[in-house]
Amino acid sequence: CGIVGYIGPKEKKKILLDGLQELEYRGYDSAGIAIIEGERLNNFKAIGKLSNLREKTKEYHSEGFGVSIGHTRWATHGKPTELNAHPHLGKYSYVVHNGIIENYQELKKELLSEGVNFLSQTDTETIVHLFEKYNNVISDPFKAFEKTIERLEGAYATLLITEAAPDTIFFAKNGSPMLIGFDEEEVYFASSDTPIIGKATEVYYLEDGEYGYVKEGKVHLFNANGEKLFTKQPLKADKT
Ligand code: GLU
Repeated sequence: CGIVGYIGPKEKKKILLDGLQELEYRGYDSAGIAIIEGERLNNFKAIGKLSNLREKTKEYHSEGFGVSIGHTRWATHGKPTELNAHPHLGKYSYVVHNGIIENYQELKKELLSEGVNFLSQTDTETIVHLFEKYNNVISDPFKAFEKTIERLEGAYATLLITEAAPDTIFFAKNGSPMLIGFDEEEVYFASSDTPIIGKATEVYYLEDGEYGYVKEGKVHLFNANGEKLFTKQPLKADKT
């Protein structure tokens, strides 16, 4: 239902929670965040109001440089439980997703037959396991993400972070809205502009089929045919 993401040096917990609060008006049944900060990987989820998630993360701080994703869920596949709340975890990666993966049953069957364990009943969880399945073989997180996206049918806006590339956020959009916000050394993601207003000095609305990754403050954007659209580094000079 609602997605936020942030890569940069600021307190990530606060940016995610405040961003999710801006998306509250859309309605949700549970919420969660995942943050990779150097070697530290943290994940919190709570059903019900965002205040429950705030309470759970009260003692947690994330002030170093890192990558982070957050989600408010409006359940479509699987009950509104804490286990079904996003972000969904593989063995070393996390994913958040808005929309519906129409072919998730077929994907899940394939992964189950290969010995993958599923923790939730969501369609979303297939994304993270597919990603790890490919990455385990090719050890190239971007290629693995590309292969994953190729397999997905349906509507999605999704963000993925992984210990295999702890300074990178992978993103893809098809049928569900997502935008990228830029500031000097920071990049924001959100499923609508409200969490980004007042933070980013420039925004880009992703088109259907677009995907890519953000690393070291640079956004690498590709279209549905795999052609590179731009590499963009937020610049002070862009501030007008
Ligand atoms: N289909 C996903 C789920 O049920 C995402 C729902 C949403 O957009 O919040 O978990």
